[in-house]
Amino acid sequence: MSIDDTFNCPARITLDAKQAAFLDELATQAPSLQSELNCELERGHPGSHAALGQHADDCMWWVHWTLSASEINPYKWCSAQHPDGKAEDDNACVLYDGHPGRHSSAQLYWNEDRAA
Ligand SMILES: [Zn+2]
Ligand SMILES: [Zn+2]
Repeated sequence: MSIDDTFNCPARITLDAKQAAFLDELATQAPSLQSELNCELERGHPGSHAALGQHADDCMWWVHWTLSASEINPYKWCSAQHPDGKAEDDNACVLYDGHPGRHSSAQLYWNEDRAA
């Protein structure tokens, strides 16, 4: 693995006031909202950038954006588990269900073993 494999995508977004207010109202006991978000996908990923905006129960609201548009949608957690992760708590992928690129956990990107 080269050092580049550990880098997140460098894209950022600053939420506008409406988006921030929307996310703020979703969860009553959420930690204070960040209005500036970093993309959580791997560097060079296909498609739009993505950052977790808010948790509400078992639903996560992910912000997706491109150079021209942004949107906020609800997702479930990605169900992938790192095949040989050592720290039990860090094995689960921290991205959303159906995300592009490799899975991500504990600052590590990995591929799920697939037969096909
Ligand atoms: Zn990105
Ligand atoms: Zn995943």
